[in-house]
Amino acid sequence: MRVDLHLHSTASDGALTPAEVVQAALTHRLHAIALTDHDTAEGVLPAQKAAHGSTLRVLAGIELSAEENGAERHMLGYAFDPTHTTLNSLLDRLKAGRIERVHAIIHKLAQLGVQLEAERVFAFAHGGSVGRPHVARALVAQGSVGSISEAFQRYLANGAPAFVPHARLSLEEAIESIHGAGGVAILAHPGRHPDYRALLERLVPLGLDGVEVYYPDHSQRLIRELRAFAARHSLLVSGGTDFHRRDADGSARIGALRFPKDLDPISEIERRAARYR
Ligand SMILES: [Zn+2]
Ligand SMILES: [Zn+2]
Repeated sequence: MRVDLHLHSTASDGALTPAEVVQAALTHRLHAIALTDHDTAEGVLPAQKAAHGSTLRVLAGIELSAEENGAERHMLGYAFDPTHTTLNSLLDRLKAGRIERVHAIIHKLAQLGVQLEAERVFAFAHGGSVGRPHVARALVAQGSVGSISEAFQRYLANGAPAFVPHARLSLEEAIESIHGAGGVAILAHPGRHPDYRALLERLVPLGLDGVEVYYPDHSQRLIRELRAFAARHSLLVSGGTDFHRRDADGSARIGALRFPKDLDPISEIERRAARYR
């Protein structure tokens, strides 16, 4: 199956609107996609509406930021009810926390002699999930730094002078809130974590449903290992590009993923999600 189950839109820090993501997926003749915006499912219904009447399947998706002993982990949720009340009140709380955090970062920047208007940061977020990338873009736009990476290095990265930690979910809460809304929980990009083996072992007893095996940074060797782990623990296998925006050389592209044609992750996800309904 031609799928891309890890995509960002303007509902969080992506550059394309949900409808534009759907359009790109149709252009690349994908069978199924999921928008997995950070801590918000606001793009899901607009994307499903945009795909209505086409052959493209749009699965409900989200990428929740969780924290474990100071380390950030991302938990993907799929096939849940995007209108679920408990999930949405949790997402509202996370959104309020993100807004507070931006104000705290701006306060620290001011103490460092860098004046930044909060409105400029929120303008980059288009009303969606606001985060450090939007602060970085606002700093670049007003010429305080030369690039996004400089903004992180000098001010925003973990341990940098304007860094502000933010209240996050635990991994257990992330999994439970996805299950509570009738969806499955899949660990995003395990390859980003040097301790991924131990992490996966801890997550299985917490109710983890699957592993994002196919991901641009994952080596063939890692893919084989993750597939074996998934088979051993009867976990789902998923994959996605983590697309945020088109880049100059065209290498970031929706659906640019070596996902095996014989795998049908959508039926598997739906079957497993039935456990939580
Ligand atoms: Zn992520
Ligand atoms: Zn992502």
